Amino acid sequence: MIISDEFKGIYMHIPFCNNKCIYCDFVSTVEQRSQESYVKALICEIEREKCNQKIDSVYIGGGTPSTLYDGAILEVLNAVQQCFVLQDSCEITIELNPESVTEKKLIEYKKAGVNRISMGLQCADDDMLKSIGRKHSVQTFMDASKSIRQHFDNFSTDLILGLPLLKNDSQNDKSKSELSFELINKSIETALECQVKHISAYALKIEQKTRLHKKQCDFDLCDDDLIAILYDYTVEQLSKRGFHRYEISNFALQGYQSKHNLKYWTNGDYYGFGVSACGRHGLSYVKNTDNIKKYISGALPNVDKISVEQYKQDCIMLSLRLTRGLSLSKYRELFKEDLLQTKSAQINQLLDNGFITIESDRLRVLEKYLYVSNSIILKIIN
Ligand code: SF4
Repeated sequence: MIISDEFKGIYMHIPFCNNKCIYCDFVSTVEQRSQESYVKALICEIEREKCNQKIDSVYIGGGTPSTLYDGAILEVLNAVQQCFVLQDSCEITIELNPESVTEKKLIEYKKAGVNRISMGLQCADDDMLKSIGRKHSVQTFMDASKSIRQHFDNFSTDLILGLPLLKNDSQNDKSKSELSFELINKSIETALECQVKHISAYALKIEQKTRLHKKQCDFDLCDDDLIAILYDYTVEQLSKRGFHRYEISNFALQGYQSKHNLKYWTNGDYYGFGVSACGRHGLSYVKNTDNIKKYISGALPNVDKISVEQYKQDCIMLSLRLTRGLSLSKYRELFKEDLLQTKSAQINQLLDNGFITIESDRLRVLEKYLYVSNSIILKIIN
């Protein structure tokens, strides 16, 4: 039997943005008129789930939560406090965009209990930021960081690897590879100068139905090989500066790993509130509508049950994204099954080929293969 965790997380989706970035496929809108009714619907959903559940992480993402009207985050987090049992050590993160940071908002977030900020830099080049549809400049990010540091110590940023160069740019005398390395160097330096404690560095994915997907021919895209080289280089540079990679794309100074993200990767349980949000409770997945109007009108989520076999696969896939890997004893405790026995042929082959290792209780993918770990993980679960 799968027993739900003692502590759960909460993810809340705020779908409003100042603009739509060309690569973005998240559920978001630039139409701001429904903000108040959206917040009401969100609080209604939170109140519907009221119980004595202990919560140790809350993540307010989007969209751009900092585009909400003043006071909204305080209202929403008050509702969370009243409906659940937030632990003293609860990590409460909010995503901000540099152009919407104000002193007033930061004070409100602090008062509401927020203790971790995530603000995307994406890259440290103004022309590139403009070409991918971001509204901020490098200086705006640096100014906003300064304000954040006056109120919050735990501050994370996102970088995108392999951003597409505008065709005109790539016609100058530098190669695409040189320009990409220059960009990642500048981006890392800017992030460190702003004293971030955590960095998520993601490879750009061209998603269907995005403007980037439609306008690919205007850009000089980085191929997978170049992105893989940029990724290895980023790992090396960040490691030299004390940022330990704890998940494929996530790096942190000691003590600053994201509790909320770790909950996903260790197969923990969490609520998902807001449009398009997904929650997980043992074998149940709870998914809200992707339609903002329907969400505001009170559409109820869909609940899907997964099989224990699927749950096992999820557990292996998610845990092996972590550099510390999967705890064999936890797996045994959860599923009453010894993974080394049930998957002995697959695991022995991967061990012989040097892709994975087992050290005391942990099975993990070797760091140098983490970037391509999907194919390794599939060999274990199939
Ligand atoms: S700010 Fe974030 S959520 Fe909004 S459009 Fe850009 S990438 Fe998407």
